[in-house]
Amino acid sequence: MKTIGLIGGMSWESSIEYYRIINKTVRDRLGDLHSARSVMYSVDFAEIETLQHQGKWGEATEMMIAAARHVENGGADFVVICTNTMHKMADDVENHINIPLLHIADATAERIRAQGLRRIGLLGTKFTMEEDFYRGRLIEKHRLDVIIPNEQEREIVHRVIYDELCLGEVKPSSKAQYIRIMNNLVSNGAEGIVLGCTEISLLVAEEDSRVPLFDTTKIHAMAAVEYALEPHGNPESATE
Ligand code: GLU
Repeated sequence: MKTIGLIGGMSWESSIEYYRIINKTVRDRLGDLHSARSVMYSVDFAEIETLQHQGKWGEATEMMIAAARHVENGGADFVVICTNTMHKMADDVENHINIPLLHIADATAERIRAQGLRRIGLLGTKFTMEEDFYRGRLIEKHRLDVIIPNEQEREIVHRVIYDELCLGEVKPSSKAQYIRIMNNLVSNGAEGIVLGCTEISLLVAEEDSRVPLFDTTKIHAMAAVEYALEPHGNPESATE
């Protein structure tokens, strides 16, 4: 079994989910008292959030590279960044370490394609919904049609993530707003919806949606187990 290197704390509310899903999946696969070999480097999210919203992406990239080196030095065989947004610097991180990185958008796209869907709605932070590192990757690399909420809806989705979900607050009023926004995505043609932020599954579930949901936390964590348990193989094949 390979050792999974987790970069967590963004936020720790979702890192717990990664840890739980990874270990449960290993137990389901191997039985008995089996659990995952892993190391986690967990950041102070307040520092990251400040850099994000000040647009200081260079500093944020340095911090992610340092975190990845910590998990590599701690014995990890590959790196899992436990947030969609911080995949903005995934290429830089991968270029500065000697172990592979399992990309969250690639893992998610493989699952969407496996279900035969092409037109998907995307929820996440404004960075994830609007920028090329994520939305563009789904379109260019994976040939998906990506629909995002309108500007006002994106503000709501973004605000709820940082002001509530990353603080562990789950409000019925926010859930109602998310459901309304998801319904609008479906009305605009979405055949499935990517929960492209690792905290959104704390707020909404399959029963809240008229179309299949793609929970990036669960997909990414399970892809990490697939790769960890494959004797040979590369991160891309773990996502197939
Ligand atoms: N966990 C969230 C995500 O998946 C947002 C927190 C962050 O900015 O990293 O994008």
